[in-house]
Amino acid sequence: MQRFSAYAVVRKALGSNRDWQEQWRDAAPKKSYDALIVGGGGHGLATAYYLAKEHGIRNVAVLEKGWIGGGNTGRNTTIIRSNYLFEESARLYEHAVKLWEGLSQDLNYNVMYSPRGVMMLAHNVHDIQVFKRHVHANRLAGVDNEWLTAEECKAYCPPLNIDASTMRYPVLGGALQRRGGTARHDAVAWGYARAASAMGVDIVQNCEVTAIRRGGNGQVVGVETTRGSIDAPRIGVVAAGATSVVMSMADVRLPLESYPLQALVSEPVKPVFPCVVMSNTIHAYISQSDKGELVIGAGTDAYTSYTQRGGLHIANHTLDAICELFPQFRRMRMLRSWGGIVDVTPDRSPIIGKTPVPGLFVNCGWGTGGFKATPGSGHVFAHTVATGEPHPINAPFTIERFRDGVLIDEAAAAAVAH
Ligand SMILES: Cc1cc2nc3c(=O)[nH]c(=O)nc-3n(C[C@H](O)[C@H](O)[C@H](O)COP(=O)(O)OP(=O)(O)OC[C@H]3O[C@@H](n4cnc5c(N)ncnc54)[C@H](O)[C@@H]3O)c2cc1C
Repeated sequence: MQRFSAYAVVRKALGSNRDWQEQWRDAAPKKSYDALIVGGGGHGLATAYYLAKEHGIRNVAVLEKGWIGGGNTGRNTTIIRSNYLFEESARLYEHAVKLWEGLSQDLNYNVMYSPRGVMMLAHNVHDIQVFKRHVHANRLAGVDNEWLTAEECKAYCPPLNIDASTMRYPVLGGALQRRGGTARHDAVAWGYARAASAMGVDIVQNCEVTAIRRGGNGQVVGVETTRGSIDAPRIGVVAAGATSVVMSMADVRLPLESYPLQALVSEPVKPVFPCVVMSNTIHAYISQSDKGELVIGAGTDAYTSYTQRGGLHIANHTLDAICELFPQFRRMRMLRSWGGIVDVTPDRSPIIGKTPVPGLFVNCGWGTGGFKATPGSGHVFAHTVATGEPHPINAPFTIERFRDGVLIDEAAAAAVAH
């Protein structure tokens, strides 16, 4: 693999940048592999990378129906944090944050991880109680999170309006995770694809899985795709909003609902916004990209759908909230908006593990908040696919928890979980 370094940039520039290699091989599918990953988003690509790097399983293909990173990975607002309420969740997301911290070096690819701080605003007594509970629980779990007064919130994020006389929901304080932040979403997909490909993984684009084949005792033996039949004894499904559709090919039903979730960006402006701000109560979240666009996240639609396009009233509602929190943005124009399909579980925590079908594994249910987990999710899922057993970190995130009532109820804890 061609390595990126300051020296390489200068040397290539002297050669008019003509001989940069392709970042990864655009592979054609082989007849068989040791493992298949269905879905070329960040989680699927990370799984393939760690399968090759940590478990020596390199005869692997990532099958992607469109282009890699074209799903939710390339559509999200890139918020990274680990200050979830329950210990199981905090451990999982903290595992990811620790990997984010060294990811650019590990992949030799700049994923632009920027720990600029994520501040979650409290607007009523209930919010204050919930966020303070999070702060205490996180500290016990060794995860950084701190309570700020409204004035301290304003000092951390000067554009924030804390003048209670101008707001429906005044800012009463906030929880700040300083190590939280953002990363560049498509660079994450490309960085993992490049590093996995260099170790022998086939990245197969325009290859939709249309059926999962099973042998005599029900175990998986391969898949049918739009590019032919492929054999494999192990299959990991990481298809986000399309998980229910793919898993139904093996007669596995999951407690998932799929909803459109939208985001929008403004015209680019000079750096004005130093951190990430989230408000669950009036529902808006915002940061500024390195290009200068304000990156704004809205809520899910109230109804299930596979349209990748959300309702206009949802985006309008979010912009109302943004203008209330940051009145100086009222005159900015929005440049574009889009939607993704998120896969939501009843307790708003993911499912990562084995399924009732031997050889078939699933990683899904990340809902509105899985980007932040990408490296950790890939890391523990690779362990699960390689060994057939969950890593201790993903052991609680089984399908059976919905049968046994051992929920990890981040839905009740936070209402939203970006
Ligand atoms: C608007 C929006 C904002 C968000 N904001 C945040 C945020 O700020 N922070 C955060 O942490 N998370 C956020 N999320 C959630 C986050 O984007 C996802 O949880 C995460 O990216 C999921 O990654 P993935 O790799 O599992 O899925 P994806 O990137 O969607 O990858 C799944 C892939 O599977 C492929 N696929 C599906 N069916 C098949 C098939 N039959 N055959 C082959 N391939 C198939 C799809 O084409 C897709 O590329 C947001 C999501 C959206 C939509």
